This record gives sequence, C-alpha cells and structure tokens, in this order.
Amino acid sequence: MNESAVLLNGLKSEWLEVIEKRLTKFEGVRTELEADLLTFFDQLIVAMDTNSPMWIDTTIASWAKSASQSQPLSGSDSMVLMVGEIMAGSLGLVSDSLSAEQAVALTRVLMPFFVHAIDTAANQELQARLAQTHRELQRVQNALARVDKSKSDFISVAAHELKTPLTLIEGYNSMMHEALSATTNRRLQSALCIKGITAGTKRLHEIVDDMIDVSMIDNNLLILNYQPVWINRICLAVQRDLDAIIQQRQLSLTIKNFPGSNDMIFADGERIYQAVRNIIVNAVKYTPDGGAITVDGRALPGFIEVLVTDTGIGIDPEDHQRIFEKFGNLGDASLHSSGITKFKGGGPGLGLPITKGIIEAHGGAIWVESEGCDEVKCPGSIFHIMIPSRKSPPEAIAAHRHNGLTKEERVLYD
Ligand code: ADP
Repeated sequence: MNESAVLLNGLKSEWLEVIEKRLTKFEGVRTELEADLLTFFDQLIVAMDTNSPMWIDTTIASWAKSASQSQPLSGSDSMVLMVGEIMAGSLGLVSDSLSAEQAVALTRVLMPFFVHAIDTAANQELQARLAQTHRELQRVQNALARVDKSKSDFISVAAHELKTPLTLIEGYNSMMHEALSATTNRRLQSALCIKGITAGTKRLHEIVDDMIDVSMIDNNLLILNYQPVWINRICLAVQRDLDAIIQQRQLSLTIKNFPGSNDMIFADGERIYQAVRNIIVNAVKYTPDGGAITVDGRALPGFIEVLVTDTGIGIDPEDHQRIFEKFGNLGDASLHSSGITKFKGGGPGLGLPITKGIIEAHGGAIWVESEGCDEVKCPGSIFHIMIPSRKSPPEAIAAHRHNGLTKEERVLYD
C-alpha cells in the first residue's frame, strides 16, 4: 500500500464515525449505512493504492440505485450533495488529525478521487432522474390514453343509450299519425302510442337525470335534504316499485326486518331510496330468472349496515373497485339496452358511481363482496351499504334549511 493510502487507512474508524454523523439526513442510504461506507472507504483505499479512481464507481452506482428506488430523488437526497458531504468530512478529518504537512499531502492526493466521485455521482443522478422522468411520462401517457378511451366509449354508449328511447318515441309517433288517419280502433291505438311515447321519454329523463347527478357529485354540489327516514320503509317502497319486474323475471325479493332497520335516522330519504333502488335493480339485472335477492343488515355503532345479497353472476375481484368508478364499466355499446331490468341489460354505467356518491355524501361507505363472475355457477354478490345512523340532521344542513324558511317561520324556529 502506498504512503497516502496507509495514512488514510489509519483514520478508518474516526472516518466512519465522522461521515456517518454527516450522512444521517440522506434517506436513500440510511439503511445499512455503515456497511456501505466501509465498502466505499475500502474501495477508496484501493483506488488510491492503484491510482485508479474507477474503484469507487460501483459503490456510488449502488447508492444512486437504492436512492432512486426507495423514493423519487429529491433535493435532499442528491447523490452529489452526499458525496460532497463525504469529501468535506474526509478533508476535515485529515486536517484535524494529521500534521499540517501530512494533511496537505494527503488532501492533494485525495482531491482527484473526490472530483471523480462527484462527477460519477452527478452522472448517476442524471441517469436516475431521466429514468424517473421517463417513468412518470409513461404513467401520464397511460392515464391520458385511458381517459381518451373512456371518453370515446362514453360517447358511443351514451349515443346508443339515447338512441333506443328516441327510436321508440319516433316509432310510436308515426304509429299515432297512422292511427289518427285510420277509422277503426282509433282510441285504442292512440292510447297504446301514448304509452310507448311516455315510456321512451321516461327513459330519456332517467338517462339525463343520471348524467346530472354524476356531474353534481363530481362538483360536490349534491345537497342532501336531511329528514327522518326508516331503512325498512325505503326497502319496502323499492320492493313495491319493482314488484312487477320481479314477478315477470320470477325472482324473489325478501326484505328482512333486521336490527336498526326500523330505527328513525336522519338522511336524505329520496337519495337513499335512489341508492338502495340502484343496488336492487342491479341485483335484478345480474341475477338469472328464478334467482333470489335478499336485503338484510345489522345495527353497528354509529351506522346501519344494509346487505343486498343476490344469487346472480357475481363480480370478479379485480372489478370490485372499478364498477364504482364513473364510466369504469363501459363495455361494448351493442350490449347496451334500454330494457334496464332485463337479464344483463347494460346501462350507461352511472348507477354505482351515483350510489357511491350519495352514500359517501351522507358520510357512509359502500363496497361489494363476490367470489367472481361466473354465469354458470352464479356465485352471487353482496353489496354492503353503511349508512350513518344520525339522530339529528347535521349542523350545516340545519342552517341551510333554516335559511329557506319564511320570516314568520324563522321566528318560530328561533
Ligand atoms: P350499469 O348501468 O352498467 O348496470 P352500474 O354502475 O349500475 O352500471 O353497474 C356497473 C357494473 O357493475 C355493471 O355493468 C355490472 O358489470 C356490475 N354489477 C353491478 N351490480 C352487480 C350485481 N349485483 N351482480 C353482478 N354484477 C354487477
């Protein structure tokens, strides 16, 4: 070993202590710092002995790699700064521990190695940052491609959804023209046409209402009208509403009298009705004829949990989150149909995002449990809906309602 290498090697333990203290702020190399520093030191000694600075490159490369993997490189994790700290610590130690003459000589030898180390660190850092930027760019590009795809899927599905009721209205409209010019059965035919036109406009309304709801939820504009509600009454109202379809599809819908279902709570009755209806309509849609749908639940501290279980086709675990995302489940436009309760009749894919928005606006949560999607075995799905069991309307809403009162009413209220 040459003289300078011997001199520096003699300071090994002090060097380790000084440098470790200076480097504790560098997140990326904090783990196994001691082992890393000892490797760097040994390589520096070999580099000095062989007069070949390349020896220290491998340690710097491995630091750069671990820093960029543990977290995105930030200013405080700069490899250049870190090597600069090692240089400052090493030169400080040399000047403190050796005679002036030895210190000057050793500093002169050490400087080119540290200049090389800083240069390597800057290079490695640049590479790591470039790779990081590239990954980030790729991520943004993928996200943009997804947005673009869902936009065009949406246009295609929305056009299809809107076209079906329009065609219906047009058809009945022309029938009406014919009926009015014909002499027989004029009344009967007109009544039939009006029924068809009403059904078509109703469906158009539902689609447009769904779109408005989604945009209100997105923009945090959903205002809840808190009033006393009973979960059981809401479920029974949904059951009455869907009775004809349930009969037609030979399904059974059982509403259980579970603990909490008869408790009076404060919520927006219409919106909770809409949410529960969406879930039960989906259970109807995705359960083959003859299947069973059950609404059960339990009272939990601060919440009522409603469970809607069906014996339908089920949902793949990888879709459990996606189905609650807006336009996350747009499929083939040709599968979409305005017969919204027929088996697997697709819709615009807004039902679950709206339901989630309504439940979350109440301070609740919704999720699904299902083994997977299998149209033969029909493993079924369980939708969990957590509704806060408020015993009074929230403050902000009370104030909102109060503002809507007349002067006379306000006097009474105050
Ligand atoms: P859609 O209008 O397509 O029914 P939703 O938002 O109501 O939109 O539902 C999203 C998707 O979630 C559906 O397309 C379907 O794939 C799946 N889904 C929802 N409920 C059920 C269920 N009970 N059983 C099986 N799949 C379901």
